[in-house]
Amino acid sequence: MGISHIMQLVYMLTEALFVGMVIVYLFSIRHKFGIALLYITLGTFQYLQTVLATFLYFEIFPDVFVSPGSAVLFNASLFAVLLIYIKEDAGEARKLIYGLVVANVTLTIFLFMVGLHLEGIPASQLSYIPEQVLSFTPRVLIMGTLTLAADVLLIIIIYEFFSKYITSVFFKIYSAMAVVLIFDTFFFTVGSGIISEQSDYVRLLISSVIGKLLLAFVYSLILTLYIKYHEDKGLIVENEGTDIKDIFTFLTYRQKYEILRRESYRDPLTGLYTRGFLNANLSRELDIAKRSNDKTAFLMIDIDNFKLINDSFGHQEGDRILVFLAMVIETSIRKMDLACRYGGEEFSLILPKTNLNLAVQLAERIRDKLAVLSDSHKPALARKITLTIGIAVASDEAVTAEELIFIADKRLYIGKENGRNCIVSKG
Ligand code: GH3
Ligand code: MG
Ligand code: MG
Repeated sequence: MGISHIMQLVYMLTEALFVGMVIVYLFSIRHKFGIALLYITLGTFQYLQTVLATFLYFEIFPDVFVSPGSAVLFNASLFAVLLIYIKEDAGEARKLIYGLVVANVTLTIFLFMVGLHLEGIPASQLSYIPEQVLSFTPRVLIMGTLTLAADVLLIIIIYEFFSKYITSVFFKIYSAMAVVLIFDTFFFTVGSGIISEQSDYVRLLISSVIGKLLLAFVYSLILTLYIKYHEDKGLIVENEGTDIKDIFTFLTYRQKYEILRRESYRDPLTGLYTRGFLNANLSRELDIAKRSNDKTAFLMIDIDNFKLINDSFGHQEGDRILVFLAMVIETSIRKMDLACRYGGEEFSLILPKTNLNLAVQLAERIRDKLAVLSDSHKPALARKITLTIGIAVASDEAVTAEELIFIADKRLYIGKENGRNCIVSKG
């Protein structure tokens, strides 16, 4: 006699708990080890889930047969897509979804090719290969791929839809999973032909739905707990636009949110980052640099005698000069550099992977460009401006953000004392 239904159920719930926790853990360490750990792990589920779903079923309640392939592993793929969509954005979820579909298509083609070896070989010679591997038809895999593609898209759309009406995070996730799983069960089982071989298919369908919904409960719970209690203070990074136009282009609520969040860190006059952004990100930049032994240069730039300009030509002219200088700075730096308006007429630059020499060169480039462009700028500036710049480099001279700002500021002050219009990188 086999083990009891209860034990089968307990085993399966434990499997889901294990797989769900592994996914969440691999996701949480992505900043350190990269997202490949998670994606490769999910990739290995793909084949297994379809194979298991074709023949391996356990009775978790009387007359309710559930496959770990569909209830544990398939649910896990949906769970991961939702996790990535919620915690990252539609763009990242798209990568995973495309990856899952490509993996399935490749596998289907490969298995078809393997099948060609077998033609004409008597069954007796193949007796050492499990029957299920041979009877595994491309139809099942193709249906699996189609269903998966539909499911992973649906889960995001339905999740967004429910978000409008349901406030509880858990119910939002669970309802989205439930709808997709019910759809999936009918679509896959009917489409793959598994059903036609079974006489009692209604019961099989209901079994499958019960199993999936039960395990979706475990996954939804893990995801809810993760979202609620794992606060991810990610660095606000530039979200590169993409020109692939597909459903995800319309699913970019999260990207929009990110853009809004980033824009709230923009100075309205110059368009540069604000001091708030600097405070929120400099320490993290330094931490990242430290891990890879990179140097980070920090520049404090201050316009000389700016008050005079305001007093002589008015604040509007002063504003125009600030906007002009911001443009000069932005067009002088690299893409990875971060330019902030630190205060009134003070600007600061974070230059990752930059040593002192390079930083001085960049400071000079800004001053040169300012001189050249202010000659050609139309309408002409009321008065030529000059800059005093203080430079400090982490981790050579400073370890923390505060130390770095303090040293650059001190050098700026030395420059002012020494008559302005200069770059100071010592003292
Ligand atoms: P120093 O060479 O020592 O830096 O002299 P300074 O006159 O540039 O420095 P100070 O700090 O005395 O004056 C800065 C001025 O910048 C004072 C303030 O009115 C002006 N300012 C600050 N923010 C803005 C702004 O958004 N627009 C304009 N037009 N002026 C501003
Ligand atoms: Mg000044
Ligand atoms: Mg100043």
